[in-house]
Amino acid sequence: MFFDTHTHLGSRQFDADLPVVLARAAAAGVTRMLAPAVDLENTRKLLALSADLPRVRVAAGIHPCDVDSVSGEAWLDELRALAHHEKAAAIGEIGLDYFHAPPEGWTVDVWRAHQARCLRMQLELAVELGLNVVLHNRESWDDLVAQITPFHGRLRAVFHCFTGTLEQARPLLEAGHLISFTGIVTFKNPGPAGETARTVADGGYMLETDAPYLAPVPYRGKRCEPAYVADTARAVAALRGQSVEEVARVTTETALAFFRGFE
Ligand SMILES: [Zn+2]
Repeated sequence: MFFDTHTHLGSRQFDADLPVVLARAAAAGVTRMLAPAVDLENTRKLLALSADLPRVRVAAGIHPCDVDSVSGEAWLDELRALAHHEKAAAIGEIGLDYFHAPPEGWTVDVWRAHQARCLRMQLELAVELGLNVVLHNRESWDDLVAQITPFHGRLRAVFHCFTGTLEQARPLLEAGHLISFTGIVTFKNPGPAGETARTVADGGYMLETDAPYLAPVPYRGKRCEPAYVADTARAVAALRGQSVEEVARVTTETALAFFRGFE
């Protein structure tokens, strides 16, 4: 029924009890999951752990906070090989992050330039492979949109954990991209995301947990897990005046058309 389109099953926070977490997700009606990677090692881990999980597929990529794990060009060939794996459904999680401080030894300018270069290389790879991309943004909106604009029509992107207004999203939606909502829309004060979730057209958005982060109400502050996408779906349904079944059906259809290889 539910499709958690952004759940970090490869996080160390799930190492001890992943089978139980997946059982709770199944009991909550979560039938499909997209697990985004943060670096090459994490991509390999996710491809291995999803091998026996038919309803779990993987986004292969280097997160902007983890681009210090790569330099030069050879890593792109490694990523290309991983993205050819039968469980790879997208390139991600890629993007820009100006919120977290650079790692030791990097100036802000050099760090941001390296993030931008890694993003461009991965966007080109996605075009080459015919895959869509999962985008991370944190305090980098204008630069991220500027990076994506030349790729309009060549790939589709999901702006994950979208917290902006519909006006911000509109030109991207018109270019075929998507936004997705986390448990933030269940908060008492969801910011602009609440109004955006209420008004965005069916087919323009998906649901996610971003587990192990951003647990929805009533789990706020605890470790988030994929089962909780059901709580986010209920909140979105209430905002939109739709049944939760309708929200689940529409968002699942949207995600099936966006990510490669799901049944
Ligand atoms: Zn993420």
